[in-house]
Amino acid sequence: MSVTVSHRQTCRLCSSPNVELVVALKPIPLSEGYTTDPETARLAPRYPVDVYMCRDCGHVQHLDFIDSENLWDSYTYYSGAAKGMPEHFRQMADKILDTTKPPEGALIIDIGSNDGSLLVPFKERDYQVLGIDPATEVARRANERGIETVCALMSIDLAKKIRDERGPAHAICAFNVFAHADDLGEMVDCVRTMLAPDGLFFFEAQYLLDIIDGVLIASIFHEHMSHHSVKPLIEFLDRHGLELIAAERAPIQHGSLIGTVQLKGAGRPVEKSVHDLVALETERALDKIETLKAFDAKVVDLRETTASLAKQWQADGKTIAAFGAARSGPTLMAQMGLRDAISFIVDDHPQKVGKYSSGDGVPIYPTKELLERMPDYTIILAWVHSAKIIETNREYLEKGGHFVVLCPETRIVGKDGDVHL
Ligand SMILES: [Zn+2]
Repeated sequence: MSVTVSHRQTCRLCSSPNVELVVALKPIPLSEGYTTDPETARLAPRYPVDVYMCRDCGHVQHLDFIDSENLWDSYTYYSGAAKGMPEHFRQMADKILDTTKPPEGALIIDIGSNDGSLLVPFKERDYQVLGIDPATEVARRANERGIETVCALMSIDLAKKIRDERGPAHAICAFNVFAHADDLGEMVDCVRTMLAPDGLFFFEAQYLLDIIDGVLIASIFHEHMSHHSVKPLIEFLDRHGLELIAAERAPIQHGSLIGTVQLKGAGRPVEKSVHDLVALETERALDKIETLKAFDAKVVDLRETTASLAKQWQADGKTIAAFGAARSGPTLMAQMGLRDAISFIVDDHPQKVGKYSSGDGVPIYPTKELLERMPDYTIILAWVHSAKIIETNREYLEKGGHFVVLCPETRIVGKDGDVHL
């Protein structure tokens, strides 16, 4: 697989060259590169994930871009299989229908539609649905389940073709990909091209304030090129003939931003939610370099604490494992300096068991091995599911094991609850 990396010199939202490095992270391998050979896995190349801020519009972003075709080649994340997502999509579908009130049989488009899960509830209510996704395997799966999906990257040509063939869309969603697009300007131009005059565009992306408050470094990997906040988006959308009319925070993915957008001047008023979040962002100085630098200092602190704990445990002859070969796994292991500390990872994902983690070459065993091997400490890499993992593995704790939660601060959990550091 050939991978090309390019480094952009300008802000992804406003094209200003006035961008500054604010969070220096360790380079990480592509997150889905699990292989059957430990040496290949260990030698997997690493690519930068440094975080920059635009001094002009305040947008926080990555400037190193990994060629998208390669990035999605081996993409095996199925949104329909992720815990809590089908329910979330169903609620979102209700909300979208309630807000948009599309005519019977109207067209609803999902950009970055993955396995089609978001579109299922619309199709059940007899709307026309169309998914667009560049990942071959997930697009194939969506088509197989009856959700028509174009397997391609979004482009203006494709947007025009869809509009010509299908007419305008009454609702367009970009839930999985709004943080993923390198050329976000082109993406919203595609939306404008396909949207009906009274249609609405909905996007969801992890919210910068939640990343900072929760120290969610595990969610900073190559696919997430933008870490959005409301203020820079308002100006950006305006420049592209669009208008943000609602902005809400949602608990999904440990804190997301859901935006509702109309064609500029389409007539709906800008809701209080937009003004409220702008006020919150001003109060929290979210567009200030110093705020991101303080986050960087927290990451460094967490890395030092974790690495020294792991070193101490190794010196004491303790064994350390990890739970969850999720996309966030290689990120956390790299950022926390755990490369040589982890003996094995447990996970039941059929495409990962028996393979080795990218960049570290750590073997992945099924979760039942946790009780058989009884590592002294198990670091939870699947950070989103920490509470659930601790709850369902009581027996491991009862037998003397410990779980380690890394973010937002290091916690060690034993059979009697938290162990003081
Ligand atoms: Zn900018």
